[in-house]
Amino acid sequence: MAYEANALRYDQMIYRACGKSGLKLPAIALGLWRNFGFDRPLDLSRDILHAAFDSGITHFDLANNYGGPQGAAEQNFGILLKRDFLPYRDELVISSKAGYRMWKGPYGDGGSRKYLISSIDQSLKRMGLDYVDIFYHHKPDRDTPIEESMMALDQIVRSGKALYVGISNYGAEETREAVRILAALGTPCLIHQPSYSMLYRWLETEKVIDAIGDCAIGCICFSPLSMGKLTNKTVNDPVGIDDKVHKRLIQLNEIATDRGQSLAQLSLAWVLRDKRVTTALIGASRIEHIADSVAALNKLDFTPEELKRIDEILA
Ligand code: NDP
Repeated sequence: MAYEANALRYDQMIYRACGKSGLKLPAIALGLWRNFGFDRPLDLSRDILHAAFDSGITHFDLANNYGGPQGAAEQNFGILLKRDFLPYRDELVISSKAGYRMWKGPYGDGGSRKYLISSIDQSLKRMGLDYVDIFYHHKPDRDTPIEESMMALDQIVRSGKALYVGISNYGAEETREAVRILAALGTPCLIHQPSYSMLYRWLETEKVIDAIGDCAIGCICFSPLSMGKLTNKTVNDPVGIDDKVHKRLIQLNEIATDRGQSLAQLSLAWVLRDKRVTTALIGASRIEHIADSVAALNKLDFTPEELKRIDEILA
């Protein structure tokens, strides 16, 4: 049956300005890194994407290497886009990235103009798109002058293959430099995509969030549930989890319960508490994950006591 999106999809989501740009992103976005490759039933991927869009998640995040195997997530997404989402293309923000190893030889990874431009061409083909909304340099490449990578991003926008560009996994100083170079080229940096969760606070300790705030760009935080660790599943079944981490999860879950939230909801609200963070970028392996995660938006505020207690648990 043809997919028809939920008519009330925009009622439950919060949309936040992405830095000082005119683009608004949903506070919760869905990434296709895992669970969308050829190793998963396409119907399940389809159901998860429907649940997400029906809940107001307008942003789907991909990369050249998501799978498995590499490229499979973009290929599957292309199939589902053609089947269900083409009528909604203008309601969607679709991103892709290049940076990690994608094909053999010296031009298959990094940050050269050669790699970035070949890679976006391949991604567009796999997804059956004329353009992506956001294209990222996936990680810094210290073997390529940053100017070359940024000039490639600028060229990608000017040639109509992406509307905006961003950077991912860049440190604080690299972020400031990338933003400065892109501004000089006339293609402003839209967004940074770092990892950030209660269990991984590199964004704060390395002052990347300060660079993001000073540069007034957007910030979409990946793995806000620490790849599924910050969930009730791990509280109840800590297989492969360090005892110390498990103890923390139990204590955090007590705070979540007091707030009337699941641990996943507390974790998402916590990432979104900083106004410099635009979006929490989740993954999902089940349809139910979408509704549970989006319901985090019902309670985003924290008391100073709650924040202090969370810091003590994580210290
Ligand atoms: P999360 O930290 O959100 O982990 C997702 C996992 O958490 C799911 O697979 C599921 O695990 C579990 N989960 C999700 N929602 C719930 C819920 N409400 N209740 C209970 N469990 C839940 O994100 P990911 O690490 O998967 O990353 C998200 C996205 O970030 C990626 O798809 C990608 O787009 C991006 N990313 C970017 C990177 C970069 O370098 N730029 C690197 C990594 C990710 P389970 O299946 O075990 O139940």
